[in-house]
Amino acid sequence: MATLEVEAVEAEQKTNILLVDDRPENLLALEAVLDDPGYHLVKAPSGEEALRHLLDEDFALILLDAHMPGMDGFETARLIGKREKTHDIPIIFITAEYKDMEDIIRGYSLKAVDYILKPFNREILRAKVSVLVELHRKTEQVKRQAEELARSNTELENEIAERKQTEQMLRESEERFRLAFGQAGVGMALVGLDWRFLDANEALCHSLGYTREELADLSLQMLTHTSHRDSDEELLVQLKRGKISSYQVEKQFLLKSGETAWFRVTVSLMRDEQGKPLYMIAQMEDITRRKVAEQSLVERSEALERSNRELEQFAYVSSHDLQEPLRMVSSYVQLLAQRYKGKLGTDADDFITYAVEGSTRMRKLINGLLAYSRLSTGDKDFEPADCEVVFTEVLTNLEAAIEESGAMVTHDSLPTVMADNRQLVQLFQNLIGNAIKFHGEDPPHVHVSVKRNGNEWVFSTRDNGIGIDPEYADRIFVIFQRLHGREAYPGTGIGLAICKKVVDRHGGRMWVESQPGEGSTFYFSLPEKGGVS
Ligand code: ADP
Repeated sequence: MATLEVEAVEAEQKTNILLVDDRPENLLALEAVLDDPGYHLVKAPSGEEALRHLLDEDFALILLDAHMPGMDGFETARLIGKREKTHDIPIIFITAEYKDMEDIIRGYSLKAVDYILKPFNREILRAKVSVLVELHRKTEQVKRQAEELARSNTELENEIAERKQTEQMLRESEERFRLAFGQAGVGMALVGLDWRFLDANEALCHSLGYTREELADLSLQMLTHTSHRDSDEELLVQLKRGKISSYQVEKQFLLKSGETAWFRVTVSLMRDEQGKPLYMIAQMEDITRRKVAEQSLVERSEALERSNRELEQFAYVSSHDLQEPLRMVSSYVQLLAQRYKGKLGTDADDFITYAVEGSTRMRKLINGLLAYSRLSTGDKDFEPADCEVVFTEVLTNLEAAIEESGAMVTHDSLPTVMADNRQLVQLFQNLIGNAIKFHGEDPPHVHVSVKRNGNEWVFSTRDNGIGIDPEYADRIFVIFQRLHGREAYPGTGIGLAICKKVVDRHGGRMWVESQPGEGSTFYFSLPEKGGVS
């Protein structure tokens, strides 16, 4: 500690004594007598000066010369006694006259006033001062202790009030929890760290089929289906370590009836104030219905997938196997037409023509069916496919139809996409082919455009043809569904089903926007799959 600070602390602990006398030699004499390390002597040459000191500092004692020019000791003492702050400071008058003192003491009899006659006896003065200073110190000490006591009392009272408030809040929150726990529509339980049921609400008892008393003898693990027991132990360890604040599991429980039921269990851990784990709160929601529904949905979709696969397999095998006998029929019917046309009468000619047409139609149907069923057997290893090249190939394939109808087929600049190139040709060819086929009175005009939409491409084929009633917008994508007779527009009703399947296999969507007489726009999307350039 620096010297200056030491001095400051000492000065603080010293007792202030005010010496008032108009004569410097008297002040010096007093100073010499009261020379004591425990005193801090402050000198004032007049009553006014003394009062000024009393304004700024606290004093334990005043030694006051009775006779001073100007404001004398009596007047000074009167003013000191009038002020609240200085009222209690004991004063020792110093005077030459005993007579004076009698008056003074009478006048100030209620105050601690003493006197010393001049020339004073040093020992007596020192003893008197020491007694009064000691008295002052004691009083100050008692005052301080009383203040401290009052302070700690207030602190204690505040603490008690706070504790009471906390207890009240705790009681209220416990009450709220008890109510929520008891009345909750969902099953709830308090579970010990050994998984024993400490308490369970009405809803849980109802779901499990046990009474609260019966549950008190059981544990959550005892009721858990054997296949689900172990997983919870690990989760409890993580809860205890504070790695997770709660966990949720879906598992099967054994009911009292002997049946099993699915529950979604949400478990959280309660700890005491020191953080020590106390017990768990488990919320248990019976989800058996949902689980059963999910299970049957899975089973149904598996069955559907199986039957779809079988159907496709059947379509593939039958269309493939039908090709051979069909080839026989059509070649012999054609032979019949070549050799016997005009020789067997008009009826026979008509019959032969119908048979030739029929076999041609059947060939188209079988080929279409084969193409359709082959789509699901192809692999899904898509490669970059340049749609510009695909488009050119499609135009070449459709050359005859374009020429015959005088169609104009235009397109935006087309991107490269990750796709099955062969299937992409089928897709564009069916769409553009239809757009040309289902034209109205004007020559067909077909335009293919493409737009980027997030992480997919959206292609569209717009035509100026006969249009489609929006009522049939979904139906036309189903295999064999056609909106027109064969005479009006030839076809098998397989084209759009193939388109839809191709788009599905590429993870996209397909739809049409159209109004009768106003042309149609077929849309399909292809996911970017990171392979788009
Ligand atoms: P198909 O063309 O062999 O009849 P699709 O499966 O390709 O079979 O088409 C199904 C039906 O959808 C068609 O019969 C037709 O009624 C309707 N359709 C398809 N494309 C168009 C189009 N661009 N404009 C008008 N109708 C169309």
